[in-house]
Amino acid sequence: MAKVPIKIHEYAFLGKDFLKYQDAKISVMTHAFMYGTAVFEGIRAYYNKDKDALYLLHLRNHFERLLQSCKILRMQPYYDVDQMCELTIELLKKNKPKCDAYVRPSWFKSCERIGPSVICADSDDEDSFVMTSIDLGDYLDTSKGISVQISSWRRVSDNAIPPRAKINGSYVNTGLAKANAILAGYDDAIYLTEAGYVAEGSAMNLFIIRDGKLVTPRVSDNILEGITRNFISDLAIDELGLEVETRAIDRTELYIAEEAFFCGTGAQIVPIGFIDNYQLGNGKPGAITSKLQNLYNDIARGKVDKYNDCLIEVK
Ligand code: PMP
Repeated sequence: MAKVPIKIHEYAFLGKDFLKYQDAKISVMTHAFMYGTAVFEGIRAYYNKDKDALYLLHLRNHFERLLQSCKILRMQPYYDVDQMCELTIELLKKNKPKCDAYVRPSWFKSCERIGPSVICADSDDEDSFVMTSIDLGDYLDTSKGISVQISSWRRVSDNAIPPRAKINGSYVNTGLAKANAILAGYDDAIYLTEAGYVAEGSAMNLFIIRDGKLVTPRVSDNILEGITRNFISDLAIDELGLEVETRAIDRTELYIAEEAFFCGTGAQIVPIGFIDNYQLGNGKPGAITSKLQNLYNDIARGKVDKYNDCLIEVK
């Protein structure tokens, strides 16, 4: 069996029950396995060592987006946001991580049939819920300025596989871009849209800083409408007094940006030092990026009272 490079927690949730992770199995004929017809979220829980407390960050927002993804895929979820929040808390209470953790809930088309349509008129189409959790530290290096490549792969468009929905099958697009970047010696990739505008990173949103302002691509540039992206925009305005522009970004604006960073639940805040080997600033985390990173990390661990409503403690 392939070596699992991550620490998967003891319990998972499948269908309507908690069970041991190794018992959470699905059939090889499952529609989602054959056609990628599933939607998912990645949720982080931060461990505060001093308080021996575990905090889920933006839990409700993730399940709200998950239900939007379900809607786009014409799915029929049988849990609402509150129920999924409760199940997540229960899962982590069972798994008791003593470090940062990551939760993966997913609704998937669980029927066993041939034919890719996301609805099937003459059978009992079923959607099912699954949720796993793992220990997870940094997904990308957050301490240096990473090196990224503009991918030759283009971002899937809203009229192909909508990136606004977090659809499992569309992560083939992500996988191709990320693999090319790694094989070429970069840490990650930035996609352009078919129209040539900047979209996002392989699995994270992007900000650049120009003339002291934050700039981020429009939601119509085939990005996932990131929860961290929204939060960072708010923090930049409210806490750092900066302007945030949401607009089309040209490729060459990346090369001359003062700073750039990726953001996402899994990735957190990742400073970018080089894009296509063009050095940004001194190639190290920029001043604004570092301020936002420190603030984000403190909020996530429950150290900033003002923002404690972003967190739900697992207890
Ligand atoms: N874009 C893509 C394609 C992603 O997979 C993610 C991770 N969910 C993000 C952006 C960042 O979104 P969020 O901040 O909501 O995690």
